[in-house]
Amino acid sequence: KTRNIAIYGKGGIGKSTTASNISAALSEQGYHVMQIGCDPKSDSTNTLRGGTFIPTILDTLRTNRKVEIDEIVHNGFNDILCVEAGGPEPGVGCAGRGIITAIELLASRNVFEDYKPDVVIYDVLGDVVCGGFAMPIREGIAEQVYTVSSSDFMAIYAANNLFKGIKKYAASGGALFSGIIANSINQTIQKDIVKDFSNNTGTTIAQFVPRSLSVTRAELLGKTVIEADPDSEQATVYRKLAKTIIKNRKKYVPSPLEPEQLKEWAERWSDSLLGQKDEISPGCRLN
Ligand code: ATP
Ligand code: MG
Repeated sequence: KTRNIAIYGKGGIGKSTTASNISAALSEQGYHVMQIGCDPKSDSTNTLRGGTFIPTILDTLRTNRKVEIDEIVHNGFNDILCVEAGGPEPGVGCAGRGIITAIELLASRNVFEDYKPDVVIYDVLGDVVCGGFAMPIREGIAEQVYTVSSSDFMAIYAANNLFKGIKKYAASGGALFSGIIANSINQTIQKDIVKDFSNNTGTTIAQFVPRSLSVTRAELLGKTVIEADPDSEQATVYRKLAKTIIKNRKKYVPSPLEPEQLKEWAERWSDSLLGQKDEISPGCRLN
């Protein structure tokens, strides 16, 4: 049976990087993986395909001719199946439309039955609370939802909003939550901030992922760390995360913080940060 996993998070937080490295790690571990980019920018699967972009489902449908499956499902690293939902033409329509259309098309063309992926990873821009973006949750398409968050307040704010969405649809068959992927965590205090947010929302942390130049380097080559830098520590971190996600069958309804609670929580952390020194490497001084 196919495992459907959705990865949400605020814009630019590292969803596609994390999703692609999980997909790459799972493919190494023998799983047949499909990654579906649910982002109008359609760059989710970029590093699984040597930095090349695939046509999106919405763009392909716009050609108005009969669409073959191999026009929407593309081969990536280690035979990972790559799909990009795509978005409307800039400035027109609802960005979430792409996800809805993509999911409907893939289902109506029996793509999941034909390709039989063990795991499908949905990479979803989740800070926009738009109907389309909520679809994998609302319809319960994803069995398990993860969110990528750093220790930055805006990332945590977006995660908290995601928790609200999950809670809202949980009683009517919506997807449940399975863990926070804490990204770009290099300092103890950053780890503590995410841990404390997790404790306060009754959630779990799947993995801490450091910010690493291996990621920067791999991305410049259009590759995942798993492909470009397989012996790096960062690759080990992603492999461990992939294993955790496959093993983890826990799913639950998170307890989002109310706006006043979140504000108080943030202010308490602001106090804790007073007097903390930034770590700037010597060569990086600006004067
Ligand atoms: P979007 O919302 O635009 O789709 P996203 O959440 O998918 O963004 P990514 O594109 O994965 O985010 O990452 C944004 C940038 O941050 C990329 O350039 C990526 O290489 C970098 N990045 C993400 N995670 C890390 C990390 N752990 N170490 C170093 N760089 C990272
Ligand atoms: Mg992305």
